[in-house]
Amino acid sequence: MKKIALDMDGVLADEFGQFSQFYEKEKGIRITIEEARGKRLSEAFPGAANYIQSPGFFRTAPVITGSREVVEKLYRAYDLFIVSAAVEYPHSLTEKLEWLKEHFPFIAWQKIVFCGSKNIIGADIMIDDNFKNLDPFAGQTILFNQPHNHFADAGRHHRVTHWHEIESLLL
Ligand SMILES: [Mg+2]
Repeated sequence: MKKIALDMDGVLADEFGQFSQFYEKEKGIRITIEEARGKRLSEAFPGAANYIQSPGFFRTAPVITGSREVVEKLYRAYDLFIVSAAVEYPHSLTEKLEWLKEHFPFIAWQKIVFCGSKNIIGADIMIDDNFKNLDPFAGQTILFNQPHNHFADAGRHHRVTHWHEIESLLL
């Protein structure tokens, strides 16, 4: 059974959507996906870097459309692991565990890997929205489209914009 290393933020959890909601609540300005394309989150939402430190940021993040249905199928067909570089933000560890338990209850705790760097991860397939994780990975790589990576050349990575594409690709 092939191993999949599956990212959370920007792939399962709608990090952009969460920034957008927090930003609108605080500043009364709605930043659209179109406006944010090609920008890092810190550029798209100036002065909002501290949001990820606020309690509840990770716990209440919206789920990316289609992810739950497809991940449930992948979970049966592959040796699937959630791999999140979460250690940088210690409070996120508990919030992410609770978030997974709520939205992806079929994922066993043994299949959840919280780490500092993904360079240690060995698997056959990696699904992620960040080049820093995909570039050093030796196996098959799937780049999940997000505003921050929208204009970047995907290179050897297979870019997908919706979970249905992952379903067609891997199932
Ligand atoms: Mg990510």
